[in-house]
Amino acid sequence: MYRKYFFPAVAFLVVFISVLLLGSSLNAMVPVFRSGDTIGADYRGSIATLDGFRQDGDGNYCADLKGRCETDDLTLIFISSAPDTIYVNGTKAVLDTYGSISGRLLVAQIPAEAFSYGKAGVWSIRLELHSASADSLSGLSLCSIDSAMTIVAVYNVLMPMIYGILLTISVYGFLLYLSKRDGTLLLFSLYTLCLFLWCFTPCLISHFGVKSSVLSFVHIYSFDFAVILGMVTCLSFCKLKMSGRRRWLDKWYGILALCLAFSLLENCLSARSGEVLLFLFYMAGCAVLVITCGKSDRKPWVALCGLSITQALRFIAIQYPHPSFYFDLMKLLRLLTLPYVIGCMIDINTSFARKFREAELLACELDKKVEERTKQLTEQQQIKTNLMTNIFHDLRTPLLIMRGCMDKLKNERRYDEEMVQILDERLAFITDMTEDLFATIKLEDKSLFMETEPVPLEPILRKIVDGCRIEADKKNIGIECRCKVKAVAWGDETWLSRAFQNLIANAVYYSKPDGGSVRVLMDTADGRILIEISDHGVGIAPEDKDKIFDRYYRVSGTKKHKSSGLGLSIAASVIAHHNGSIKVNSKVGEGTTFLVELPLWSIEQE
Ligand code: ADP
Repeated sequence: MYRKYFFPAVAFLVVFISVLLLGSSLNAMVPVFRSGDTIGADYRGSIATLDGFRQDGDGNYCADLKGRCETDDLTLIFISSAPDTIYVNGTKAVLDTYGSISGRLLVAQIPAEAFSYGKAGVWSIRLELHSASADSLSGLSLCSIDSAMTIVAVYNVLMPMIYGILLTISVYGFLLYLSKRDGTLLLFSLYTLCLFLWCFTPCLISHFGVKSSVLSFVHIYSFDFAVILGMVTCLSFCKLKMSGRRRWLDKWYGILALCLAFSLLENCLSARSGEVLLFLFYMAGCAVLVITCGKSDRKPWVALCGLSITQALRFIAIQYPHPSFYFDLMKLLRLLTLPYVIGCMIDINTSFARKFREAELLACELDKKVEERTKQLTEQQQIKTNLMTNIFHDLRTPLLIMRGCMDKLKNERRYDEEMVQILDERLAFITDMTEDLFATIKLEDKSLFMETEPVPLEPILRKIVDGCRIEADKKNIGIECRCKVKAVAWGDETWLSRAFQNLIANAVYYSKPDGGSVRVLMDTADGRILIEISDHGVGIAPEDKDKIFDRYYRVSGTKKHKSSGLGLSIAASVIAHHNGSIKVNSKVGEGTTFLVELPLWSIEQE
């Protein structure tokens, strides 16, 4: 049951532990000079952490350092906050931003005259940080002035880049949201906007020297809001919906209330406790992402890996109260949150790309279906046009003949036996034709009502065969009906008679004169009624076999003057309405057999 969560959990742990080990070892590579330490002659001014400060009676932080190295350009570098004044052996050191665009990197070169030299060229200094907060000791480092300036230059390049990335992601998300109203996207855009405001407001404050309470307010609240929005984005990946009384938490006012509640809580805590709370809070986020990767089809793997990296970095920040300068610089650049932000962005974009692809495939499929349907409709339209043309053509010929006969009768003003017979025949043809057309149209109607009753087939077949006997005699051919069983079908007697009438009449009509015979056989097998109508007639060419059941199809060369081309299509439709089937076997010049199968209702006993 829990197996599906195994891989996401392992992925989280692997990334988390790898980053933790890597970060810790990089942190440990930076040298640390503690109060009372002697700096060796080989020290060339690379970054080294200063630690071991103690507070004197006045609340100032102090540290003593000795050294043998060059003292020309030794510099102190502070991140985020710095003390008001720095004294080195009582001499004041000047604090400067050295062009740091946010003003949050502060550099103080130790004056050369402040060093006091003892025996064997060992110098010693006492650092006194007046009005310093514990925060200003974090990341406090010793380096050469050149290193400090390089760091400021690198910071000046990276800072606008990272803040720019956050702003771009946020604007991009909002623009995308305008086209596709997706909740996760909106939350993510607001989250990155809050992160940007949190990063950017201190720059405004320090760069323009604006001590605006509004900006400070924005700075504090944007951070708290970002924490909650980042978490809610995480929850929205798993489409977690609150139910019952907690439903309001899903609404915008619910999220706002959460943000405000978190702000109140966070502002009551110390900076360190706030960091611990944030870490634990986002550990819950990791659990949510692990569950989402395990069970939902929207798998935010990249967001999970991004959050693992972010959490590992946060853990290092909590674990080491005084991490290396580089680590503090990363914190200042807001690089800790960036992996999670980028992970979320990749996952959201991937899910959009997937949806887009699905929509594209669907559109392609629809296009194909529309094309097929249009083709079918065009074909149907063509068939209908042909049908109409044929009907008009077939009706026009007898009507013209009838018109001629009528004219002749009118002119001669006498009873002409021959003319009346022609008129009779043509009228009969038009009547049959309209009957067939009417039947065809009725059979097309899906809601056609057919009687449903037991239909004994033997009397029907015999009656039709007897009816055809005169025509068969005229052609000098035999006609017989053999029913092995008295099968009863279920359906409409009139329609069934009509179908068999068409088949048997065709068999007689297409039989060669003076030879062979028409046979109608009935039997049953496997709960089906089998009726075979065979003749020794002209046969049907293989290429016509599939088409003879089409409406109005007449094999070319058919000279049947009563032909409507609708007989077989009516027969096939009626059989289909009775859940039966019709097949044809034929050989040109030898004969044709129609095989009809109908469901067996019952067998009449003798
Ligand atoms: P028609 O009124 O022309 O007979 P049908 O739909 O009944 O129309 O038949 C369609 C075509 O099938 C006919 O034109 C004929 O060529 C062919 N056909 C039907 N029954 C037979 C048969 N028993 N033997 C040979 N050809 C047949």
